[in-house]
Amino acid sequence: MAERRVRVRFAPSPTGALHIGGVRTALYNYLFARRNGGDFILRIEDTDSQRFVPGAEAYIMEALKWCGISIDEGINEGGPHAPYRQSERKEIYLKYAQQLVENGNAYYAFDSAEELDALRKQYEAEGKTFAYNYTVREKLQTSLSLSPSEVKSRIERGDVWVIRFKMPENEDVEMDDIIRGHITINSSTLDDKVLYKSADQLPTYHLANIVDDHLMEISHVIRGEEWLPSLPLHYLLYRAFGWADTQPAFAHLPLLLKPQGQGKLSKRDGDKFGFPVFPLFWTAPDGSTANGYREDGYFPQAFINMLALLGWNPGTEQEIFSMQELIDQFSLEKVSKSGARFSPDKAKWFNQQYMRVADDNELADKLLPMLAEQGISTTKERAAKAISLIKERAIFPKDLLSLTIYMFQAPTEYDEKSVAKFWKADNVAKLKELRAQLAAESVITAEATEPKIHQWVVDNQYSMGQLMNSLRIAIIGISQGPSIFAISEFIGKDETLARIDNALAKLGEGK
Ligand code: GLU
Repeated sequence: MAERRVRVRFAPSPTGALHIGGVRTALYNYLFARRNGGDFILRIEDTDSQRFVPGAEAYIMEALKWCGISIDEGINEGGPHAPYRQSERKEIYLKYAQQLVENGNAYYAFDSAEELDALRKQYEAEGKTFAYNYTVREKLQTSLSLSPSEVKSRIERGDVWVIRFKMPENEDVEMDDIIRGHITINSSTLDDKVLYKSADQLPTYHLANIVDDHLMEISHVIRGEEWLPSLPLHYLLYRAFGWADTQPAFAHLPLLLKPQGQGKLSKRDGDKFGFPVFPLFWTAPDGSTANGYREDGYFPQAFINMLALLGWNPGTEQEIFSMQELIDQFSLEKVSKSGARFSPDKAKWFNQQYMRVADDNELADKLLPMLAEQGISTTKERAAKAISLIKERAIFPKDLLSLTIYMFQAPTEYDEKSVAKFWKADNVAKLKELRAQLAAESVITAEATEPKIHQWVVDNQYSMGQLMNSLRIAIIGISQGPSIFAISEFIGKDETLARIDNALAKLGEGK
């Protein structure tokens, strides 16, 4: 048999902002498609009108774009199986639901919500749990208990009905999952799920999902672990339709877990601990907002790199992966079964790694407006040079401002702790001598001046640490930061001397 073309889909429901767990599902689908020369499809599953949230669909597409996850077939891209939005495929599903009724795998049910509620309460009162399954379906108002003519007339007079799947009784459903292996579930533990509702003329998730995966020739379903309980039903639906031979392979991805404690990473964890759980900033229809990785200053490459490793690793020490490297190395066999603990610190670590290799000119484009806001104007070249000196210390582009501002503006304040520690009479006297040494140089460069001054300090048996920290306070206002000679070179000799004089005037002779 010819090798089947790999076709995967990311099938989000537009019920709100896309959680990072959803982005990871999209990413793994994308990596798998690219790795295997297949197609990546975006299908919007919007048949649950109750949960539809305006703006969510656009958010999903923008998020994927920001992440660099490109779509082969979808709402904007089109494709041979268009439309890719389930609400526009409405007409397709009824006939499939009816087909299952005809071949004995589904039935009409006419019970109203109130009747079912009353039944549930009655069961509860008797200490039992109500399940709509083989134990009740022949006793309730269904096409299994009513006569065909009664069913027909109820439908014709416009009674509200649903079509339910007729879950077999006491059958061991045998399933395979690429990540989890072989699974067996007894069908008696499952209920008769609704497949189609006359009230809104829409299929439920289960029916639409199976029908569309079949019609769209999906070869692999890669989705979150929360869908594993639906797998037996999905297997049985493929069988009921007679599509078992071409049903997709399944892979259920592990959950993303909270940074600490038990359970799934939730939006509330993000609010509580101050890290984003969404790729982009989100404003909900009710006006509430949630932070996003993009707006928090993450590089999309760092975000993707971090997400890729939450649940997958190639079994080597490598941690930094470009998208192409991920594509080259990704396999579902290396996805773990157990949940992946999310770490906000590790997310920052990844960003820092990408910061270190980011292009100085591109970062300068981000720094220039921040400087301008402080009333500082400089050239892109100067900004890029300043960035190159401190980039190692930044995690986010927004850090660049505080790390470079003293390269464009003399300190107006001096860090109290640094002053208390190093601005002492003895040091200040030596700093004045150092000033004379620097004044005697024609220019200050890190390369030439630094070794010379170091030698002078050694010859005089001064403490290098004490003196250099005093110099640092004078020039940048704090006893930390990159090479002070590199900064002096950057600001120039005159400015260096002026800053020393300024500090001496403001801070005095020290105690
Ligand atoms: N619409 C489902 C969701 O929102 C898709 C599940 C699946 O991939 O089958 O997650």
